[in-house]
This record gives sequence, structure tokens and C-alpha cells, in this order.
Amino acid sequence: MVLIATGNPGKLAEFGRLLRGIRTVSPAERGLADLLVAETGSTFHDNALLKARAWAEASGLVSLADDSGLEVDALGGAPGVLSARYGGEGLDDGGRCRLLLGALDGVPPEERGARFRCCLAAAAPDGRLATAEGVCEGRILEAPVGRGGFGYDPVFFAAEAGRGMAELSADEKGAISHRGRALGAIRPLLLERFPEIAGRP
Ligand code: IMP
Repeated sequence: MVLIATGNPGKLAEFGRLLRGIRTVSPAERGLADLLVAETGSTFHDNALLKARAWAEASGLVSLADDSGLEVDALGGAPGVLSARYGGEGLDDGGRCRLLLGALDGVPPEERGARFRCCLAAAAPDGRLATAEGVCEGRILEAPVGRGGFGYDPVFFAAEAGRGMAELSADEKGAISHRGRALGAIRPLLLERFPEIAGRP
């Protein structure tokens, strides 16, 4: 069994789908919904490790954490590790998307390059670790499209799919997304380093 160390419902749903064959449990199912881990690292990798270790210690279970976000070339890589807090705590996903579109107002399509990045870290209470990363390249649209996904999906054009991220089905997004790729990379490492997690889906 693996604890998925996030309270973000969008991420939880994606992890559940993409880790088929490995038994997953959410923080709420373990009475740990209120555990907050400050994301004080300066990279996705550091923050993912920080979260995975803290949740493994709190739950006594192998814990898988993701730190992810959007890097926009025209903004020098911002919002990056601050993606969830872009514009301050008062904004919701829609507000953050509008803020981003405003920041890129007048920037031509060829300069709107961006990518989602996802770093995953798994930690066991005894200190065993595994990490992996996935990237999804694309660009920032001029206006939101689609109704799927979460976060910045409505303003992201996924180059490989040739469509907006929020226009993709969950399976289509999982096949090309930063999180899908990172999970594909970490899955064999999980089963190798934490054999105790194998079990019914
Ligand atoms: P954190 O990893 O919890 O610090 O937050 C990452 C933030 O990046 C999320 O709140 C979203 O705003 C954004 N993000 C990460 N993954 C995705 C995705 O798959 N689609 C859209 N936005 C994402």
C-alpha cells in the first residue's frame, strides 16, 4: 500500500488512475487530511522529497509525493515551484489562469513556450527512497479552452497531443502529461525498492 501524499483532489484522481495495480490510500483515509508540510525547497525535487519523507514519518507507510508546476519561458521559468501560490493565496485555479494570460498579453505564439514539470519522490519510514521526473512541453494559449483537468490545464496547449490539456480525456492526458511520464518512470523503481506495496488495485 502507498500513501499518496497530496490533498489536491485533481492530483489524487490522476495518481489513482495511473498507478493501477498498486494499492493506494489517501491522507483522508488515514485520518491525516490536516497534515501540512511547508514547501520550503527551491526546486521541485527538493519539495517532493521533503513531502514524501514527512508523510512517511507521519503515516508509517511508503509515501509518494509530487511537486509539480508550470514553467513559462517568457516569464523566465515562472511560476515554477510557486505555481500553486502564483498571485497569492487568495486566487483559485481560474484566477491564476487569468493572471497568467494577463502577464502574457501581447506575447506572440512563438514566444509562449512552456512546460509542465513533475518531480515524484517516494519514501519509506526506514529511509528508502526513489525519485523520478517527467516533463510535458507546450505553450500558453491566448484564452482558456476545454473543461477537463485542473490547475493551468485550460490555458496550456499540449504540443504532443495537438490540443489544449483541458480538452483531453483523463487517459489521453495521462499518456502525455508530466505526471503520467514521471509515474511511468517511478513505477518500476517503486516495485523494486518497496516490494511490500504490491497488491490489489
Ligand atoms: P504543488 O505541486 O502542490 O506545489 O502545486 C502544483 C501546482 O502546479 C498546482 O496547484 C497547479 O496549479 C499546477 N499543476 C501541477 N500539475 C498540473 C497539471 O497537471 N495541470 C495543471 N496544473 C498543474
